[in-house]
Amino acid sequence: MNDAITKSSITIRELEPSAGYARLVEARDEQTGLHALVSIHSLKRGPAAGGCRMYDYADIKQAIFDVERLSRGMTYKNAAADLPLGGGKSVIIGDPKTQKTPELMRAFGRFIDSLKGDYYTAEDVGVSPQDMAHVAEEAAYVAGLEGGAFASGDPSPVTARGVFLCLKQTLKHATGSDDLTGKKIAIQGLGHVGMSLAGMLHDAGAKLTVCDINDEAVRAAQANFDATVVSPGEILRQDVDVFAPCAMGGVLNPVAIAALKARFVVGAANNQLADDACGQHLKDAGILYAPDYIVNGGGIVNVAMEILEISDPDYRESRISGLATTLEKVFVRADELDQPPHVIADQLIEGRLS
Ligand code: NAD
Repeated sequence: MNDAITKSSITIRELEPSAGYARLVEARDEQTGLHALVSIHSLKRGPAAGGCRMYDYADIKQAIFDVERLSRGMTYKNAAADLPLGGGKSVIIGDPKTQKTPELMRAFGRFIDSLKGDYYTAEDVGVSPQDMAHVAEEAAYVAGLEGGAFASGDPSPVTARGVFLCLKQTLKHATGSDDLTGKKIAIQGLGHVGMSLAGMLHDAGAKLTVCDINDEAVRAAQANFDATVVSPGEILRQDVDVFAPCAMGGVLNPVAIAALKARFVVGAANNQLADDACGQHLKDAGILYAPDYIVNGGGIVNVAMEILEISDPDYRESRISGLATTLEKVFVRADELDQPPHVIADQLIEGRLS
């Protein structure tokens, strides 16, 4: 551990990161109650980029575990989208409902500023664009803002477009056609991404089955997209072509895989595989799984354009269609080597990083 430095009232110190990680930095500020961590996994492809999560972690060990896991995930996601960015993530330890204040977010901004551009932050769970506006009062290295010359706003429609293109690519790879007319698709979760995806699939002629714990969302999908509504407990068992997880992570566990009738899994949710063995279970069950961090890379493309100050829509489109191209490379190699796609995806991305 290095000596601590003080920036205004904040104490910032370098911690020992886990093996394979570039940096782990901690900040504490008594005045605002800030206790935050930044993990930088890799700077090989450019400055690290990844969101800030605020969560009431039980202890610092749990927070370090989470921030490092998420930071490594960002390295893979940024490289999969072929962005000139490394992987990083930050967490603020605390309950966002009761402990978040503008002063705390400004203190977090001073922490981010002290890293001098090695890490760019944006919103994640528990942190809003409004919070990021406070961070931006103190730091230049912020994305996901709603105002400003290159403000990228809500990334969800771009994420949904990436999922849509990857879904078509998966069908094309497996069946020779990406025509969605009459294709049956089950969407789990009709939030920002799921609802946008539902609209695109409906417009392309797909027949939708949907679920959400939010009744208003399912009623909207029923009314607008003629979707069949089922309960969350029933969604996996639907007799459909594609299952699109767009709610939470860890959904592809052994029990869920045994229940799945879909032949393809393509969705937006992060960390869909409960563990790596589940990727093999999917393959054994004859289900083609499109690795999540390739499929859902549209959001980070949007954020990257703000960081890199790019406004050319062609850049967005080329990076989004590039997700489907990368996915196809993964499928082809997975077929050749008779391996699950998630294993090949990791190998391909590690090649881009070496
Ligand atoms: P969101 O919070 O807007 O939507 C999630 C939806 O899932 C909500 O409508 C919620 O009610 C529903 N839900 C929660 N638990 C459920 C359950 N058990 N069964 C059915 N529905 C349930 O989130 P989002 O921004 O749409 O993101 C969806 C997923 O995609 C998340 O895993 C997120 O991490 C991932 N992701 C999002 C983006 C993005 O641009 N927003 C980018 C990359 C990855």
